[in-house]
Amino acid sequence: KPTIAVVGRPNVGKSTLFNRIIGERKAIVEDSPGVTRDRLYAAADWLNYEFNVIDTGGIEIKDEPFQEQIKMQAEIAILEADVIIMITNGREGVTEDDLFVARILQKSKKPVVLAVNKIDNFEMRNDIYEFYQLGIGDPFPVSGSHGLGLGDVLDAAVEHFKNLETEEEDNDSVRVSLIGRPNVGKSSLVNAILGEERVIVSDIAGTTRDAIDTDYFYNDEHYTLVDTAGMRKRGKVYEATEKYSVLRATRAIERSDVVLIVINGEEGIIEQDKRIAGLAHEAGRAVVIVVNKWDAVEKDDKTMKKFEDKVRQEFQFLDYAPITFVSALKKTRMTTLFPLISLVNESHKKRVQSSTLNEVLVDSVSMNPTPTDNGRRLSIYYGTQVSVAPPTFVLFVNDVELMHFSYRRYLQNQLRKAFDFTGTPIHILSRKRN
Ligand code: GDP
Repeated sequence: KPTIAVVGRPNVGKSTLFNRIIGERKAIVEDSPGVTRDRLYAAADWLNYEFNVIDTGGIEIKDEPFQEQIKMQAEIAILEADVIIMITNGREGVTEDDLFVARILQKSKKPVVLAVNKIDNFEMRNDIYEFYQLGIGDPFPVSGSHGLGLGDVLDAAVEHFKNLETEEEDNDSVRVSLIGRPNVGKSSLVNAILGEERVIVSDIAGTTRDAIDTDYFYNDEHYTLVDTAGMRKRGKVYEATEKYSVLRATRAIERSDVVLIVINGEEGIIEQDKRIAGLAHEAGRAVVIVVNKWDAVEKDDKTMKKFEDKVRQEFQFLDYAPITFVSALKKTRMTTLFPLISLVNESHKKRVQSSTLNEVLVDSVSMNPTPTDNGRRLSIYYGTQVSVAPPTFVLFVNDVELMHFSYRRYLQNQLRKAFDFTGTPIHILSRKRN
């Protein structure tokens, strides 16, 4: 999906317009432990186009001078987006900061649509002409608070999508991404996997975005490491802002089948690791937890077990994910990676037979009777797998209210054991049988 970023100096009304663009969707609820959904990134559509929108104004960059902040926000927009909507304030006219942002955008050669906000009525329309001096094209009058003019801006934005070549995603390859906070060693791991500083193999020609993926073969199986160039190009400075790293992780997860959650073994787990891991879980991807920098840890024969216990405790929601310990720097234990990636990918795409599934359900119920409520007992009549990636099951029951969280959890564990769903979440839905 293409991406639109909204940029502009503070207080021009970016968030209001962002919310108008994403419409109803902003109400999406969070349903995973520890994951608060950042509202600076959301899906939207206009006409027949689906796209993602980024509100760069939501990416706060602390401890930087004001101009540096808007500069970084504009640069993030250039790195992440296919089309940029620059927003200005028609009541204040062109400011130094507008000129500053416009100059950065001009240099990038990304398509820009210029919106002049706070043009709340027809009489004010003459105020837009001075914005031609920004040199980034025709100004469109909009009113965020009255919801006027946005349609024309979006028309102009999606018009640019036509010039984008669609990314061809090879259906046969398993897409793998590495996520984690800055400095855990993601780029070093990619280099260690591919051979030091090896040049990028597959460049997606024609896209304006610089998402570059790299092919890798293991056991004759085709893997694609997602966005390997991005990891180097995007500066540490940018990634150091937590919201931007979360945004980057979200986008990498979206494009992959298997996610490697990278942790710094030398430093241990912090809140940001949990947030990033929560995103992979929530998206229902296959997961491997990779503890890197293991060379730098002073250890005895119990250290690995202790660290694993700690990970299990901190990432309770990822109890299905296998863990491995590696050193990208010393290239030790790197051979543990692909067997696990291959394993969790198989689990993620595994389809089980209905007959076997129902045998497992019957056995599970006989070992641990279904819950009751007010004298009524849950009856499970039949189960079926409705999809893969992640494996999703529908159970037909007498009353969905009787399927308690803890019993669902029990059934998940039973299915996991019976069919070896290592490394993938399992979704169980219940439906009332008519
Ligand atoms: P990224 O931000 O997650 O991509 O992290 P980098 O790959 O840029 O690594 C950050 C720093 O950690 C660099 O100085 C690396 O040399 C160092 N580093 C990466 N992997 C290892 C490792 O396995 N052991 C040690 N001791 N240092 C590492």
